Amino acid sequence: MQGVLNIEELSLKFPVTVAGNGDVRGIVTDPVVVIDSRAVVDGAIFVALQGEHTDGHQYIDEVFAKGAHWAMVKKAWYESEGAPAAPEGCGFLVVEDPVAGLQRLAAIYRQTFSIPVIAVGGSNGKTTTKEMVAAVLGTGFTVQTSKGNLNNHLGVPLTLLQLRRQTGIAVVEMGINHPGEMELLLELARPTHGLLTNIGHEHLEFLLNLEGVAAEETRLFRYLQQHGGTCFVNADDLWLKEAAEGLTGSFTYGTADDSQIACQARHIAVDRSGRVSFEFVSGGLSERIALHFIGKHNVINALAAAAVGTYFGLSLEQIKKGLEALRPSPGWKRLEVQDAGGVVLINDTYNANSDSMRLAIDALVDIPCSGKKIAVLGDMLELGEAGIVEHEKTGRYIQQSPIDLLFTYGRHARLYGIEAGARCHGHYENRQKLLDELKMVVQPGDAVLFKASRSMRLELVVEALIKER
Ligand code: ATP
Ligand code: MG
Repeated sequence: MQGVLNIEELSLKFPVTVAGNGDVRGIVTDPVVVIDSRAVVDGAIFVALQGEHTDGHQYIDEVFAKGAHWAMVKKAWYESEGAPAAPEGCGFLVVEDPVAGLQRLAAIYRQTFSIPVIAVGGSNGKTTTKEMVAAVLGTGFTVQTSKGNLNNHLGVPLTLLQLRRQTGIAVVEMGINHPGEMELLLELARPTHGLLTNIGHEHLEFLLNLEGVAAEETRLFRYLQQHGGTCFVNADDLWLKEAAEGLTGSFTYGTADDSQIACQARHIAVDRSGRVSFEFVSGGLSERIALHFIGKHNVINALAAAAVGTYFGLSLEQIKKGLEALRPSPGWKRLEVQDAGGVVLINDTYNANSDSMRLAIDALVDIPCSGKKIAVLGDMLELGEAGIVEHEKTGRYIQQSPIDLLFTYGRHARLYGIEAGARCHGHYENRQKLLDELKMVVQPGDAVLFKASRSMRLELVVEALIKER
């Protein structure tokens, strides 16, 4: 039955010992499964994971006291001396490895649903596109979607476990770093539909090059082909276009003027505040859609969502309404526009690779402003051996882009400045010094882009500038 987890039957499906104390609830409807003890609510199932800094097994007493009914724990812990007993009316689910246990629980639960499950993968823009798809589908269906960026071997199972009885369509973000990961995520989520945003320079540390990225990501398309599912294909992306050749059950979208493409975006425009709009064309009809997002690449993200909406039978009006109502949430940090005393700050500090750098620089160039265009760019990490080439390539892109000043931040970022030449105002490896210099140089009317890999914490500079101006 959709949305019902039968705990008693779990041991028929994978190696788990169900050890209840007394009268324990064995059939759980709309289960709340958590890995964070602080998120436990009455009736929850707590999964004790071993994190980098803390071990969930330390919190077993606490989670039962807070009302959890079940705790999934490691066999070695359960059998160790001093492990507490489950209180009356509660129980343990004992497994060799709680990560695999959580994944099995999610896979079993997902299979109680016979609804469309849309996987959103690809290199850049998954979270943005997933939010847009959910906004569009939300105009006609009860949609459940991944929270934030929960997209990996833990995030996907947690997302699946958040499906509810009334869910009509699920939208699941899938993120991969290593070869082989997509296979696991597919097996857990069993998508019926799939969308790959694009193929780009992500996680080259492990995926090595674009061939490696494409081979891993397009497993989604191959899986859907084998299982009679539907692929949404970005025809602007040559890797994806090629991978989709010969697929049955594909639905295309793109910006090219090509009548073979089912959903098109035409006449892309940027308004005075930098926000993008486009004419959405499908089935001989068209509608102008204005987004609350900057950066022309957000048109292709929105178009993907519009294509999904069209496929699921929504009207152009519904699609427009869904997309136009969506705004970047506070703390979004993906080309998020913030004001600091008349200075336009573009906070894109969520993450960076050379593709998203290029597009963010384009967004800075496109944003109308009366003063200087300044780029504050930090290291791009997780690129492995490709790191130097990718930084140099980005530096050359900056060099030929019409921006006025460049500030570089971090060890690798120095390479941008070497390529960009005279426009490089200065190189910094100390956040405070960077901030002090920016405070001197930046004036009302200027537009300043901040972008780096997440661990560079460049958002701290943005926050300080907002506070101190
Ligand atoms: P992650 O791999 O961290 O999950 P993601 O694929 O979910 O990332 P987002 O979080 O949506 O992507 O955006 C991350 C970065 O990619 C942001 O800098 C954003 O501006 C940029 N970006 C968004 N859409 C695209 C796109 N279609 N092409 C290239 N870059 C994009
Ligand atoms: Mg994401």
